[in-house]
Order: sequence, then structure tokens, then C-alpha cells
Amino acid sequence: MNVFEELESEVRSYCRGFPAVFERAKDHWLWDENGNRYLDFFGGAGALNYGHNNEHIKGKVLEYIQNDGIIHSLDMASVSKREFLETFNEIILEPRKLNYKVQFPGPTGTNAVEAALKLARKVTGRDSVISFTNAFHGMTLGALSVTGNAFKRSGAGVPLGNAVSMPYDGYLGDDTDTIDYLEKTLEDGGSGIDLPAAVIVETLQGEGGINVASFEWLKRLEDLCRRWEILFIIDDIQSGCGRTGPFFSFEPAGLDPDMVCLSKSIGGYGFPLALVLIKPELDVWEPGEHNGTFRGNNLAFVASTAAMRQYWRDDSLSRQVEANGARVREAFEKFVMTWPDVFVEARGRGLFQGLVCNDAEIADKICAEAFANGMLMETSGAESEVVKCLAPLTIDQEGIEMGLEILEKSIRTVLGKDDSRVA
Ligand SMILES: *Cc1c(COP(=O)(O)O)cnc(C)c1O
Repeated sequence: MNVFEELESEVRSYCRGFPAVFERAKDHWLWDENGNRYLDFFGGAGALNYGHNNEHIKGKVLEYIQNDGIIHSLDMASVSKREFLETFNEIILEPRKLNYKVQFPGPTGTNAVEAALKLARKVTGRDSVISFTNAFHGMTLGALSVTGNAFKRSGAGVPLGNAVSMPYDGYLGDDTDTIDYLEKTLEDGGSGIDLPAAVIVETLQGEGGINVASFEWLKRLEDLCRRWEILFIIDDIQSGCGRTGPFFSFEPAGLDPDMVCLSKSIGGYGFPLALVLIKPELDVWEPGEHNGTFRGNNLAFVASTAAMRQYWRDDSLSRQVEANGARVREAFEKFVMTWPDVFVEARGRGLFQGLVCNDAEIADKICAEAFANGMLMETSGAESEVVKCLAPLTIDQEGIEMGLEILEKSIRTVLGKDDSRVA
């Protein structure tokens, strides 16, 4: 009996794209139960920035378990939570001159988004939230209402309201600054757009197709929010924790968001953890008003603290991400030049790179072929037309080169099978 097919819900998805039964993993490698090895260019969709079973972090986790460190404590105070908060403040917030309070919602990204939206509505007394085309913020109803993808939205089964979708940077082509349109709708009493509680945005849309907003666009968006007293929320769940180079994706744009959602790699070891960073004056929650059994996962605190101490005391990881990201980008651009009828462009920031195909089927075939050649790689975008590189940030140069070789080989095989496309 194939227990996955017989017992597990039809909703399962990644196991269809990566049809193996995985058993072990280390750094940027996974092994299935038959001993086949796979290079990881998928990185747990951004949850494994420090790789699988990171040796530096593992020691701390094992030691904590060995000593019967408290694992579950709802949101009670614990030594591991204190160490996490102190470390987060000392290594992440203070050096960046960021002043936030930290909320622990439930352990998933979508829960961080729900909490941020609820708080924005509570603070402002307004209902609606502005989000952007091709945004992805999670699968619960509030987060889904600010998510663009029609297929995902259709799963809600109820109307998704109290949200307005605006064109993201570049949505209307290179010649249109979509902030002009947003500004007009806010200024014009005839626009039909009510003043929103908040704007929620990804600086780089991961699930939406590696769409990169320019720093100027983001800065204009923030300025517009300030002018209209709209709360400015950045969803850094996928693009944070060093994915684009710096710890927060918005650092080089010089932004100062009112709230920041973090999850995915903040748990350090692939452990579930989510945070909402809140400007202190906005922290108007009543005790218990946003509750949850699994807030504050102590094992994740231990792993996250170890990850911050190991990787964020200096900028060596950031520089490695930038160097490896530049190498991936260079290779992707070469693919675009070699096969201009197949690939539209290469885009991304840091180790968050996309190779845009002119047809979704090709992207899927390339990822399937890469899997057959021993590599995990995922597609993204409204039509899954973008091949996306999300390798663990700790991957070495050799791993990057190996991945690019597998990718090129896979592209050649896919295009070779389709004679009309051979360059
Ligand atoms: C993954 C993701 C989420 C949702 O996180 P979950 O843990 O899957 O609920 C929200 N926003 C962004 C940008 C994401 O990439």
C-alpha cells in the first residue's frame, strides 16, 4: 500500500513534484530511503536558510533536549525565550537601529500576517487593507484576502473581503510607476477606494514569481503610507533572514516599516516559529487578544538564538549570499541569452533568483528534469512560469556550481526533447 496516496489527503503537493521518500538531510543535501542523493536548490521554500541539520545549531538543540529544557510553555516566560529576545535585540535590532516589540503569534507565517492585519485594524479603526497583485501572504482567510493567486483564493469558499489589490511595481510595464495610480486613488474622492488600515507588501514576491520591487518604489510606498497615516507592513517571511543578503530585505531601501512579519527561517533549524515586529506605540493588544497554543516554541528559540550568534554577528553570511547570488544570476542571464525564445529574463536579489520562462509547461518540465538529475528546485508565479533558486544560504561555491550544471543539463534535455526549441 502506498500510504501517501491511500491515506494522505489529495491536498498534498510538494510530494508530487518531488516524488521520493526522504530520509536524511545535511546542509544542502537530502537523501531518500533508497540512498539517492539530491542537491537542495529549494531550501524548504525559504525555511532552511541555514541548511538541513546545521552542525552549529544542532549541538545547541541536542544539549537543550538532553537537559530536559522546557519544550512547550504556551507564552509563559522561559530561559530560552529570554535568550532569544536578548539575542534578537542585540544582534538584529540594535545594530540596525530598529525599535520594535516582538509578538509571538502561532508558529506559521500566515498567523503572523493575521496578527498584523488584526492589529492594524484595531489601531486605525479602519477595515480594509491594500495588498498587491501576485502577493502571497498565507492560506488562512485574512492572509488569503490579501493574496493574489486565483487558485489559492478559490479555496476559501467564502468571499474574501476588506482588501483591495493594487498593481505591484512593474505590473503595468516598465514605463508606469504604479505608485502614481495608488496615490491618485487615495487622493481622489471618486476612486471608490476607502482609506485602508494598512498596506502589506513583500519587497520581493517569492511565490508570485520573483517580482522585485525597486527601492525607489518601496520608498515612495512608505512615504505615501506616512502621508495618509496608513500602517506600513512588510511581509519578510520568505525574503527575510538573509535571503536577499542583509537580514531584512528592506534594509538597503532604508525603510522603517510599522510592522514586520517573519517566519520560515527565523526558527533556525526548520522549526516552526513566527514573529510580528511592532512599533512600540502600536502595541495596543490586550493580554490574550491574539492567542494560540503553540506561540513561543522553545526548541525554535534555542535554534534561532544559535543561528543568530553563528551567522549574524558580522556580515560574512550576507557577503557570501551576495557572491553566490551574483553567480546564480550570471548563469541565469547566460541561459536567457542562449535560449531567448524560451526564457524571458533573470531576476531576483541575493540568493532569491528566478529564471522566467515564456511558458509555464517548460518551467515545470525543467524542474522535473532537475529532480531526475538529483536536484530539488521549485517553480513560482501565477502560472508557475518561473524556475526559482532558493538554495540554503550556507551552500558553498561547489554546491552552487553543481546546481547550475544540473540545471543547464536539465534545460538542454528538456529543450532537446522539443526539437523546435533547440538553440
Ligand atoms: C510562506 C509565506 C507565508 C505563509 O507562511 P506559512 O508558514 O506557510 O503560513 C506568508 N508570506 C510569505 C511572503 C511567504 O513566503
